[in-house]
Amino acid sequence: MKRPAKAKPAASATTSGAGTGTARPGAVWKPESRLAMVRRARRINRELAELYPYAHPELDFRNPFELLVATVLSAQTTDLRVNQTTPALFAAYPTPEDMAAAVPEEMEELIRPTGFFRAKTKSLIGLSVALRDRFGGEVPGRLDDLVTLPGVGRKTANVVLGNAFGVPGITVDTHFGRLVRRWKWTEQEDPEKVEAEIATIFPKSEWTMLSHRVVFHGRRICHARKPACGACPIAPLCPAYGEGETDPEKARKLLKYEMGGRPGQRLSPPADYPGMPAPPLGAG
Ligand code: SF4
Repeated sequence: MKRPAKAKPAASATTSGAGTGTARPGAVWKPESRLAMVRRARRINRELAELYPYAHPELDFRNPFELLVATVLSAQTTDLRVNQTTPALFAAYPTPEDMAAAVPEEMEELIRPTGFFRAKTKSLIGLSVALRDRFGGEVPGRLDDLVTLPGVGRKTANVVLGNAFGVPGITVDTHFGRLVRRWKWTEQEDPEKVEAEIATIFPKSEWTMLSHRVVFHGRRICHARKPACGACPIAPLCPAYGEGETDPEKARKLLKYEMGGRPGQRLSPPADYPGMPAPPLGAG
């Protein structure tokens, strides 16, 4: 289990004062103005950018079609599991035309490890047929078109737009929603409303990377059940400090880090991501 390379000592979480926009054990988070919240939110984003300079989508893909398929598969499972599954899937069905013509039972066997494999097979064949018949075999680069594809909602569409087309998008998954509510950037529960509110806090140019950073933080430190508050560099800016383990030693044991010595769950990450460290010596 690895610690974040840039994590600062958690001691800062215990030395900040209440009422100054910072948190400390037992302190009551005081209401703040919208302006103060926006400033704090942007500061958290800057801190996250330092903490995760290599934040990136954690699904392996080589083109928009692969990212679309991988994102559909990622429902209710880990990105790592998807990355272990997609090489064989894309070898069997490299294009929408190939996937549209798939025998469902054969595809189900290939994607079985990702769970809900019957429903996912139906979605993948359905969206491949739609790509073949309505979009000339290409993934469209517009939200309005993407959400017409079977099994593709706003979240999936934003992942594809942000990471395969460079169109800024906020991706509200379970991590993103949980963290932005803990940080009191919004109180909304509905992902579309969360997306709309967060969009008013940050410039468009930040949307895609903000999404990755927040998800990275949620996966590594600010977990759903037991956030590692005592080892969290964001603690002084977090209204929810204390919701999880505050003892630094115990908190450090909760950190979930990466496989293979490289950040993220990708098995073949692009080497040119900014801040992507070199693989560890001896790694394949
Ligand atoms: S781990 Fe704790 S302090 Fe850090 S962001 Fe999550 S709730 Fe806040």
